[in-house]
Amino acid sequence: MRIVFLAPPGAGKGTQGALICQHYGIVQLSTGEILRKNKGDGTELGEKAKAYMDKGDLVPDDLMIEMIKTELDKEIYSKGYILDGFPRTVPQAEALDTILSNFNQNINAVIILKVNKEELIRRLSARRTCRTCGKTFHLIFDPPEKSNQCDNCGGELYQRIDDRPETILNRLKIFHDRTSPLINYYGKKGLVSTVKGTGKTSEVFERIEEILDPIKSEE
Ligand code: AMP
Repeated sequence: MRIVFLAPPGAGKGTQGALICQHYGIVQLSTGEILRKNKGDGTELGEKAKAYMDKGDLVPDDLMIEMIKTELDKEIYSKGYILDGFPRTVPQAEALDTILSNFNQNINAVIILKVNKEELIRRLSARRTCRTCGKTFHLIFDPPEKSNQCDNCGGELYQRIDDRPETILNRLKIFHDRTSPLINYYGKKGLVSTVKGTGKTSEVFERIEEILDPIKSEE
């Protein structure tokens, strides 16, 4: 099963993606996570991506397409995956189609998580992320037991530079201008399902299951 998650920052891609992977036995491929790791490790890719990421801008398509090509070649993705954060532009989606057709593969579903702008801002500005395992918390709705420490692995929690208020609005605008045209791109292929992204985590996941269960049973 190969799934694309197409949702604005803060809609819950990370949280729901983890649940999907656990339930369906597939792997989450988060381009944001990979870039953050590269940035932290000071690799050439990380150095190139840093300035764009810190402002909330998109990393150029050629870098992203090269990265996804290398990544999808890895054995861990052979049983299926969910793409979290890729593609984000039409050229990226076109490149993905080419990469997949070379493997004789295709995308089975594109899930859009719908959350309104006010809610996205509220979620992102109180989001804290674990430096070690990447798990996210919300200071009000899902606070960690000990402040600044991850419940999962004990790692240090921090506020991503791009979760600061001035950057959030830029990221939401970029999603609207550059990424939302993909809804039409995949809509024409009949792949899009829209899910209400608000409510309890378990409720959102049940809505996603309704879409993915039939796809899984066809495999
Ligand atoms: P995310 O964690 O998915 O919100 O990604 C964090 C940041 O990484 C984004 O704001 C972009 O700067 C960069 N990024 C992640 N995925 C992509 C992509 N597919 N295309 C361009 N930039 C990306």
